[in-house]
This record gives sequence, C-alpha cells and structure tokens, in this order.
Amino acid sequence: EASEGASVRYSRTARVNTLKMTVKDALEVFRGDGFECDVDALIDTLLVFPAGTDLHAHRLVKSGGVVLQGRASCLPAAALAPERGWACIDGCAAPGNKTTQLAAMVGREGGVYAFDADAKRLKRLKENATTTGSHAIIRAKCQDFLTVDPANQQYASVRALLLDPSCSGSGTEVNRGDIMLREALCDDNDDENEVDAADHDRVEKLAAFQKKALTHAFNFPEVQRVSYSTCSVYEKENEEVVRDVMGAANERGFKLVHALPAWHRRGIAIDGLSESQARCLIRADPTEDDMEGFFVAVFERDVERTRSKG
Ligand code: SAM
Repeated sequence: EASEGASVRYSRTARVNTLKMTVKDALEVFRGDGFECDVDALIDTLLVFPAGTDLHAHRLVKSGGVVLQGRASCLPAAALAPERGWACIDGCAAPGNKTTQLAAMVGREGGVYAFDADAKRLKRLKENATTTGSHAIIRAKCQDFLTVDPANQQYASVRALLLDPSCSGSGTEVNRGDIMLREALCDDNDDENEVDAADHDRVEKLAAFQKKALTHAFNFPEVQRVSYSTCSVYEKENEEVVRDVMGAANERGFKLVHALPAWHRRGIAIDGLSESQARCLIRADPTEDDMEGFFVAVFERDVERTRSKG
C-alpha cells in the first residue's frame, strides 16, 4: 500500500477521524500546538502539513482523533463516496486505512465488512479499528475476497465496494527508487507507465488477480458503486485492468463514472479504452502531484433499472 505519507518529499497529511472529532477542532489543536497546517483542497477531512513534519507522537494520532494517511491513499474512499448509513465491503482491506476512512464516512448507522487474506495484516486492521473507535462499525474477517459469496444474505444490503488489491507498488517512493536505479543502469525504458522487463512476470500475475477480484466485485447484487485502486503507475495494473473487465462490468449493469471531477490528472487512453473513458479515471503522478503514484476507477450502476430489466 502507499506508505501513508511517511515521505520527506511530499507534504505530510493526516486524515481527521470524524467519528472522534471535527475538522475544525483538529485544525485548532494542531495550530494551537504551533503546527503550520491547512485543510486539503480536494479531501475535506484531510489536513496538510509541510513535508517532514513529524506527527507520530502527537496526542491526536495516539488517540485516533487523526490518522496518518497519505493524500493518495485517501482518494479511493473519497471517490467511492458511500453515503451515511450505507453498508460497504472493503475487499483487500488490511492494514485498514481506507477501511477506517469508510467507517467514518458511513458512520455508526452504517457498516463495513473488511476482508484480508493475511492474518497478520488483519490483526493490524483490528488494532486500527480499535484506536479509531470504528470497531463496532467494521466487521473484519480473514478470508480470500474471491471466496466471499455474493449470494450470502449477510451482504445483500451492501451498496458500495472498495477494492484496493495487492499491486506492484510502482508509484510509491521506495519502489520508485528501484525504478530510477534500474533506469540509470540499463536505460531501456523511456516510459514510466510501461512495465519494466524485470517486473514483467510479477506484474502479469498481479494484474490477473486484480481483474479476477474486480470482476468478482461486480457480482454483489445490491452494490451500486465499486472503486478499484492501486498505488502503481503501470498501465497494466490500471487502465488495462479497467479495459479488460469492462465486458463483465457492463453485463452486470456497471458503467465507468467521472470520479472526483475536481482532480486534474486523468487516466491514459489505450487500445480498447477511449479518451472519454480514460477521462473518468484518476491518476496521481508521484513526481508532479505532491503525493505517491496512484490510480482510481469508479464504476456505478442503477440497481433499480438493472433489477427491472431482470
Ligand atoms: N486497503 C489497504 C489500506 O488502505 O490500508 C491496503 C491494501 S494492500 C494494497 C492489499 C491487501 O490485499 C494486502 O493486505 C493483502 O494481504 C490483501 N490480499 C491479497 N490477496 C487477497 C485476497 N485474495 N483476498 C483478500 N485480501 C487479499
């Protein structure tokens, strides 16, 4: 996952956990403590501090009043925009930064079913749920998302699904260091959005899983919105995944929607994915956008219309 704003290069960001406090109160506390900070222009629950600001020991972080979360990592839940009271699924959830963000959005009347296949990582999610006071909203389970049964009555009321599966992480600072080094050594890749030869097999496998998981997400009968995200800059894990699941999406009544229209950087048109479809997609550029490299696509369907069509 994105390295949650740990970078010295990007502005430090902290998401206000609105289950515990208001943005106004958090801003007052930080400013009162002498920090320079402001509310982010795009994500209205995110506070932005100068790069390198160390907040780890701050009392609001310790108490779960704010969560240290990178700006890029906040985009998927913001784009998914579940309404208050909705039930959601977070398909690949640990360590739960987006899960607790969803919990704050749906509130105590809502719910988030959080799945992760890795027990250790799920433990961290549960700890994060406790710190943020969202443990009563989140139902965490160690389970392969592909085995979660869409016909199970338990999920019959789920309206939004966030899918943030394992990816190459090629948009994150640590991984980008590798990319830059490799480029310096062999200089055979002049497009950073294309997969490097050394990463090829791994990325193929990741993309195959990403497509399977996203196709599975479309099978939940009452789901209205699905977000798909990666912290990769590779088209293979981003636009190509979207293009390759489009048939399955359309079959289930889903269409791509123009996610977070206020955000300037959009997806890349590729063979089989038109300019207008690419404009629906969100990209963050790790060298241009003061955040790690990221990708988000949002699919939406009119459940009522799909149902009446049978
Ligand atoms: N959304 C998380 C957050 O914001 O904190 C980060 C998720 S991370 C990018 C991807 C997660 O997918 C990992 O925790 C990994 O264990 C999990 N995962 C991989 N394959 C899975 C599967 N088949 N079912 C459920 N989870 C899976």
